[in-house]
Amino acid sequence: MAAITMKNIVKRYGDGFPAVNEVSLDVRDGEFMILVGPSGCGKSTLLRMIVGLEDITAGEMRIGEEVVNKIAPRQRNLSMVFQNYALYPHLTVYENIAFPLRLAKVSGDEIDRRVRDTAELLELTEHLQRKPANLSGGQRQRVAMGRAIIRQANAFLFDEPLSNLDAKLRGQMRTEISRLQRRLGVTTVYVTHDQTEAMTLGDRVAVLRKGVLQQVGSPRELYEEPVNLFVAGFIGSPSMNFLPASVDGTSLDTPLGRFEIGDARKAAAIGDREVVLVGIRPEHFEDAALVGPDKRAHGSVVRARVDVTEWLGNELYAYVPYEAPADLAAQLRDLSRELDSDQLRTQAVVALDAASRITAGDGA
Ligand code: ATP
Repeated sequence: MAAITMKNIVKRYGDGFPAVNEVSLDVRDGEFMILVGPSGCGKSTLLRMIVGLEDITAGEMRIGEEVVNKIAPRQRNLSMVFQNYALYPHLTVYENIAFPLRLAKVSGDEIDRRVRDTAELLELTEHLQRKPANLSGGQRQRVAMGRAIIRQANAFLFDEPLSNLDAKLRGQMRTEISRLQRRLGVTTVYVTHDQTEAMTLGDRVAVLRKGVLQQVGSPRELYEEPVNLFVAGFIGSPSMNFLPASVDGTSLDTPLGRFEIGDARKAAAIGDREVVLVGIRPEHFEDAALVGPDKRAHGSVVRARVDVTEWLGNELYAYVPYEAPADLAAQLRDLSRELDSDQLRTQAVVALDAASRITAGDGA
């Protein structure tokens, strides 16, 4: 096992915009690190540089104490699981899992012992003599995992390993990967664009945007203390609402109504009458009809017309259209540089308790 240390890592393809731009990131020994970000942000490129499948344009990559920039992939002793977990179709499950040990010329007895231990761990014992074509998607994924973990690698690297599975299986595999990683305690770097995987699997999450590292922290830190608008908008599902607002003493005037903020304006050093972008998470709204008078007195009650509702069983999403005054909208362009344009919506998403009786067309 080993820590992975990246210092000012750059990757340029040709002379274009850098796919990875000055990324410095320390993955601690035994840590489960998630790399997350929108499509094209450079997360797979970074992973491929760790494993050695891609040259590093500039910067320093260490595995343990060793600088590996010029070290061949084989010598880095890392195990990688890909999205399309490429098993050998003509080999049995047993031989697929044994493959890395055969390559390493491990003795037959030891191979047998280790394949059986690994199969036991992944609940594949009864399938050892089958071929991949006769397995379910989840079983195939476990074989790919078995092949990765049977070697005593310095670290495991995963590139969206669950994206080809259906939602239910993805949930099951997620729990299995988490359990396995904790049990084996191996340094792991895991690329995903799936919110749930990012928030549930990792000890820490690194958020990338256009090749630039935005923030590294525990899932809770990213959710509660995002360092910029991009991270605020990226982490959380449904994503945070960003509303234009003008500050008026101890309240905010937004297209949804007036929100009381007490001393928050002074604490944030925002001037009176300043135009700001307010981030409100959907789940931080409540249906006023469901909260007691005490709570109602503490919060701000806003009235809005609900356009569409979606009932999910455990929650109810209500979509509330709004119009931002033109003068505010113009000033917002500057404030919202870190957001993708679709994040400045003209509707707010509100996540309410499933017991809410709000329906489309209601003024709630
Ligand atoms: P996704 O989630 O879509 O897989 P990603 O975050 O993993 O995206 P990368 O695959 O790392 O993104 O790509 C980062 C950027 O580098 C993209 O703009 C991509 O087009 C570019 N890129 C990736 N591979 C190459 C290549 N071989 N040649 C040129 N450009 C490339």
